[in-house]
This record gives sequence, structure tokens and C-alpha cells, in this order.
Amino acid sequence: MPLSFALSKGRILEETRPLLARVGIRPKEDPERSRRLVIDTSRRDLRLIMVRASDTPTYVQHGGADLGIAGRDVLVEHGGEGLYQPVDLGIARCRMVVAVRKGFDYQSAVAQGARLRVATKYVNTTRQHFAAKGVHVDVIRLYGSMELAPLTGLADAIVDLVATGRTLRENGLVAVEEIIPVSARLIVNQAALKTKRAALQPLIDAFAEAAA
Ligand code: ADP
Ligand code: MG
Repeated sequence: MPLSFALSKGRILEETRPLLARVGIRPKEDPERSRRLVIDTSRRDLRLIMVRASDTPTYVQHGGADLGIAGRDVLVEHGGEGLYQPVDLGIARCRMVVAVRKGFDYQSAVAQGARLRVATKYVNTTRQHFAAKGVHVDVIRLYGSMELAPLTGLADAIVDLVATGRTLRENGLVAVEEIIPVSARLIVNQAALKTKRAALQPLIDAFAEAAA
């Protein structure tokens, strides 16, 4: 069986391309354009598995892929069970933050012990963050366009990723708290690392070198 490498289209693939090239993995067709979900590469012993970004840790955890690349945001949300995270690739950098409508006094609301409604797709991370602060929250799960939630009155705050802050600004929102800095990591199935070490270790080393 060839090694299978889970990647997601969009930001992760874009920023991973130069690393793949440096490591000597050339996809046989363009993963961004192809509808194929399994893509052969120039290495006969390695194929790409195209997954949704938030599904990458799940595929690697359960052996649907031997390794993959996932943002720290989805790794923290997943919990990391069954995964090695040997290399921080330093790509797809952004921050996971709490943001509110400009004019909403977040610090006072927190100080007064108000119950906050927080919309996010990172429900586990959000619960943990506010529990650690001793702040009561009702977490509202969304799948996209989190910025809309405070504008429509659905929520008081959101937990989302920001890079430049432009989307927040254009929607009248401000970041009030950083939860974690985010970058993408190489992740490896723990069992595969034992049974396929001869194939996996050189790849891990090559990514570490390509990322440095
Ligand atoms: P999706 O919308 O399916 O989550 P994205 O391509 O938007 O896919 O995000 C995939 C990953 O890219 C995220 O999990 C995160 O790690 C990273 N990412 C998302 N937004 C940004 C950003 N603005 N800047 C840098 N990295 C980002
Ligand atoms: Mg996105």
C-alpha cells in the first residue's frame, strides 16, 4: 500500500505547494482543479487524499491517511488523539480570536459576569477557553460567515480566525482577545509511525528541513 497524505484545498494546499515541491512530491494532476479525491504523485509510494480542512485530523487519526497537514485551529478543536505532530510548518499563519461588534464593551461584560452568547465553528476550543476564564457562555455552532452573528444579534461575540483583520474591520468587528496563534502542522498517524517508520521518518525529516 502506498502512503496516503491528507491535504485540503484552499489555503493549506496553496501554502503547502512550495513545501511539496521542495520535498520532491509532484501531484500528477492539479489537486485544486481536479475533481479526483485521490491523486497520484511523482512518488509511486505516495498519493494525496483530498479532504475537508476540518476532517484532516480525523482521517489521519483513524488511518484513512497515514499523514497530513492541518491547521493548529482544527487540531486543537479535534483534540489530537492518535496523532503525532512532529513539524510546525510555519505556514497558513493566523490567530484564533474572540471578536465583538465595535462598541460592545467586552471587558465590562466579562467583569460583570454576564452570560455571553458566542458563535463559532470551534465549539470545543471555545468552551475550554471561556471555562478556563470562568466566563459563562452559550456556544452557538455555525459552519461559516461567523462575522454575521454579532451583526444580526445572533451572538454577542464570535471565535474565529483572523490574519490581517480586514474582514473583521469591514464588518464593524474588533478582536478583543487572542485564544491561540495558528499555523499548519505535519501530522502523522501514531500507529503508522511504528509500522511504516522506514517510509515515514525520511518524509518527516524532509518536511522539517523544507519548513526551516
Ligand atoms: P475552510 O473554509 O474549509 O475551513 P480554509 O482554506 O478557509 O478552509 O482554511 C483552512 C485552514 O487554513 C484553517 O483551518 C486555518 O488553519 C488556515 N487559515 C484559515 N484562514 C486563514 C487566514 N486568514 N490566514 C492564514 N491561514 C488561515
Ligand atoms: Mg475559510
